[in-house]
Amino acid sequence: MQIRNQILEVLEKHLRIASAAGDNISCYCPFHKGGKESRPSFYVYLGPPEGSKVPGMSFCHTCNKGWSLKGLLRSFGVARVVIDQVTKDLPQGAPRQTPTSYARGLQFSNPALPEEMLVLFEYCPKLLLKEGFEMDVLFSFDIGFDMDRRRVTFPLRDHLGNLIGISGRAVDSSSFPRYYIYGSEEFREVASNYKLHKGRFLWNLDQYYAAAMLGKRIPYLIVVEGFKQAMWLYQHGYQYVVALMGSHMSKEQATLLLRIGAPIYLFLDNDDAGQKAMKRLPGWLRKQSPEVYTIVYPAGTEGLSPDDFDAERLHIILRGLHEHSGQDCKIQSTYPEGQQSCEANPGSGRGQSNSPRMDQPHEVGAPDPDSV
Ligand SMILES: [Zn+2]
Repeated sequence: MQIRNQILEVLEKHLRIASAAGDNISCYCPFHKGGKESRPSFYVYLGPPEGSKVPGMSFCHTCNKGWSLKGLLRSFGVARVVIDQVTKDLPQGAPRQTPTSYARGLQFSNPALPEEMLVLFEYCPKLLLKEGFEMDVLFSFDIGFDMDRRRVTFPLRDHLGNLIGISGRAVDSSSFPRYYIYGSEEFREVASNYKLHKGRFLWNLDQYYAAAMLGKRIPYLIVVEGFKQAMWLYQHGYQYVVALMGSHMSKEQATLLLRIGAPIYLFLDNDDAGQKAMKRLPGWLRKQSPEVYTIVYPAGTEGLSPDDFDAERLHIILRGLHEHSGQDCKIQSTYPEGQQSCEANPGSGRGQSNSPRMDQPHEVGAPDPDSV
């Protein structure tokens, strides 16, 4: 009851609630029709953790989109420090135990980090704008920039939207490694003995996991290797995409994938590691699901990955998925305007939880030569 009241208290500040009775409270959706719908089509689950449902998951029937509690609060622009306070006592939600021996004994949890950590990185990385990413896409994925380490920051979230890690991509070609997963050194003040278990999550699953668990049919699931490829597909209308963080798929990741209940399309890189995995994985996955497909690259594209294709070629490669694509309900559309550029004032916004989420695009160096 306490958790229910705790969530209700914060939601009431941002949602018009139509009925707060029962496990599923109904609300007027704040996202479509400019927040002025006449009949409530948005609901939030506030019952006890049950199966794969955890308190705070929400879904809008008109937007046809779901949110984890943290994701919803982020969409409302709630300060990260407040999100941490509101959610710190919530159950993290054990995934549904399946009776098969396959899923027995698997671990899906990683230590949750405070959202407030991301306040340090609220700058838009111009490097990714130059690579063709749209600002609102970067914004919606919380992509930032670490001024101290000169790395583009990619938040890593588990299926429930908890921040579980940060990956930093170097902008200086001399920096090694190019992608670096922040660890106990960077997090020593907030999480002692921190260690990320890479095989226990799928990047971007949090964007639609709640919807799937609350009954939405997910039409397809595309599996890519990295978050840049996932963001690229998202930007081109393929929102149901996850990144493995490499070409290996763990049993935990496979279990999470299968739980969504959608046909799976493997679209790993067109290099040796990716293509070997594309040969190996379908047989393994098909023991659990009949609908596993591999996306075939056109001839002459050896060495490329999904983010190397422009919109037209991408749609040709992914033909057959067209009718299922398209973003249902785009929430984040623009950055706050008129914020000071962090170039002019490198200290702006730092350490303040109520600061603007990101500043104007920041020049972070020339694109890497190998970043095609
Ligand atoms: Zn809606």
